[in-house]
Amino acid sequence: MTNTAQEALAQLRDEAIALIKATPDLAAFAPLPANLKPADLPPVPLAAVDRFISNPGTHIPATAAFTNAALAAAPFGHWRQTYTEAEVGAHFLAHYGWLELWGPTGHFQCDSARAYVAFWGPGLHYDWHFHQAEEIYFLATGEALFKAEGAEDAIIRTGQTRLHASNQPHATTTSDSSILTLVLWRGEGLAGNARMQS
Ligand code: ZN
Repeated sequence: MTNTAQEALAQLRDEAIALIKATPDLAAFAPLPANLKPADLPPVPLAAVDRFISNPGTHIPATAAFTNAALAAAPFGHWRQTYTEAEVGAHFLAHYGWLELWGPTGHFQCDSARAYVAFWGPGLHYDWHFHQAEEIYFLATGEALFKAEGAEDAIIRTGQTRLHASNQPHATTTSDSSILTLVLWRGEGLAGNARMQS
């Protein structure tokens, strides 16, 4: 990995930590990661990442530094997609992606915490899915409709958070803007994956 890539990813890590410290819901959700070890993950330049870079959604002043760090680190991200085209369709895969910023298999590795940087393009429906780990979303740009079984539907706007309990099915529909999110996991199933609800 080049110095530029290392520096961009370290900046994104630091801005994510700053955002957690500045956002009471995030700070209360999980402890900050300890003893992060940089991992030499190769860049995976999904086509969707170019679309994200050209249309990241609108940030607010409090999320500007994180958003800019995500854009600067995006070309060096080890981007992943949880699902197959058969599960979610080609259009969805062309407009979504995530990287594990820290966690068991992240750019910065630790077994006690997990954080993702994830984006979805405009007008996307992320269908019902679930995972064992508890989760909190933070929107750095854009807004989206969040649904969860047993909870009120809610429009979550830039700078706001949304919680999902262990194995609580949830779904997201973006508005006419992209969303950039910081997502934290905690608890049992930290190293697991999300699955679509069949
Ligand atoms: Zn989730």
